[in-house]
Amino acid sequence: MTQIAADPSLPLSPHDHRSCASDALAHAEAVCESRNKRFTENRRAVLKLLLDDHRALGAYEILRRFDWGGRSRAPVQVYRALDFLESMGLVHRVASSNAYVACYRLAERHGAVLFVCETCGVVMECGELNLQSMMDKLARQSGFTIHSQLLEAVGHCPSCARAAEAVDP
Ligand SMILES: [Zn+2]
Ligand SMILES: [Zn+2]
Ligand SMILES: [Zn+2]
Repeated sequence: MTQIAADPSLPLSPHDHRSCASDALAHAEAVCESRNKRFTENRRAVLKLLLDDHRALGAYEILRRFDWGGRSRAPVQVYRALDFLESMGLVHRVASSNAYVACYRLAERHGAVLFVCETCGVVMECGELNLQSMMDKLARQSGFTIHSQLLEAVGHCPSCARAAEAVDP
């Protein structure tokens, strides 16, 4: 099977996360520039928060961590920034936990599968060409035009699965 994703196990393998985050930020800048969209301070700040690690954050948590820089709180700015980032494919909404996760795949407009760990909150993002072509085929058959596609599955990441097994053999 051909992976079109970055290594989906990335969130769990030891790696230099600073370079993950700075690559994703540079990618976001490039995407906005190529589509003539402004990468405003709010948009950048929200993306940076989500690039902290590979976990999804709920809107409330994002609001709580947002650096308001002395300005009065206007949550709508954060929600708008999230909408924008999602529309640009730079973050994904995790419907099952009503949260957002940064995308590290550095590919525009990709379909993806999110594996969401219900224990530690890590999100593993995978893409698979067969799955993508299957969705395209189903859409063609239905006369449907796909704008974005995202599947998600909730369960245990490998390390939480191992930990659960150790407790409950
Ligand atoms: Zn990383
Ligand atoms: Zn993605
Ligand atoms: Zn986990």
